[in-house]
Amino acid sequence: MTRATTQGEVYLVGAGPGDPELLTLKAVRLMQRADAVLYDRLVAPEILELIHSGAERIPVGKAAGRHTLPQEAISARLVELARAGYRVLRLKGGDPFIFGRGGEEVAELAAAGIPFQVIPGITAAQGCAAYAGIPLTHRDHAHSCRLLTGHPADDQTDTDWADLARSGQTLVFYMALGRLPEVCANLRRHGLPNHHPAAVVEQGTTRSQRVLIGSLETLPRRVAAEGIKPPALLIVGDTVRLHTQLHWFQCATPGQSAFSPLPESPDTPPQRAPLKHAGGTL
Ligand code: SAH
Repeated sequence: MTRATTQGEVYLVGAGPGDPELLTLKAVRLMQRADAVLYDRLVAPEILELIHSGAERIPVGKAAGRHTLPQEAISARLVELARAGYRVLRLKGGDPFIFGRGGEEVAELAAAGIPFQVIPGITAAQGCAAYAGIPLTHRDHAHSCRLLTGHPADDQTDTDWADLARSGQTLVFYMALGRLPEVCANLRRHGLPNHHPAAVVEQGTTRSQRVLIGSLETLPRRVAAEGIKPPALLIVGDTVRLHTQLHWFQCATPGQSAFSPLPESPDTPPQRAPLKHAGGTL
């Protein structure tokens, strides 16, 4: 980290759920111009490779329940570096404003008078749903989608389970593995049928992605039997059934990196009729 500008600033950037190709162009551009990058444990090495080589990389990794650097210390470091005139990029998994404590970090910056930008990322719910072939909304099955957390630290004793157990919606639980049996049991107790579809997506959008499909009754046992580990999401709703028909993403073959790009199209495209003559008007 060599340069210090007169006025430092902070970019709070979403790194997406895993696949480096899901980064926004803006995220990559800012990763190329930042002087220092503070990143979370969930950000893949393949994404860190896109950071400018001269930038200082500062891991501030957070695993569930184990905080390498307390939130206050991270915020204080951002303020300190920006005050020293550096362009600081705070890289967070998924989207910074979805279960990422991004709101707290920028509140500190705002209070300290540090200029900042917030760059959204594809949140785990979107990434996992798309790569697992599970639409989050669907005209026939789900008219809304709710993003929730199953983490005990975020426990709301006043969770309105009856409201969550209403049909016609998709529920996505982040950090739900630890409380999966409890979440599924609560939804059943409050009115969803035992056979209501549910899925767990582990390491979504990476080539290590695993998707387990079951019901509120069967899924907790399957997840335990398969040894599913974080990061993983629980998706509950009728659209889970569409996975069988809509799944498209191929996971890694042995020896392949979790982040290998999708197979390229052949260099010489097959001969096709010009598009405007094929199949009428678009
Ligand atoms: N800000 C992030 C969420 C951080 S909370 C976002 O918008 O996605 C961390 C939780 O996100 C994990 O415990 C897990 O539930 C979920 N998660 C993140 N990446 C994931 C992935 N690739 N596959 C499945 N779940 C993921």
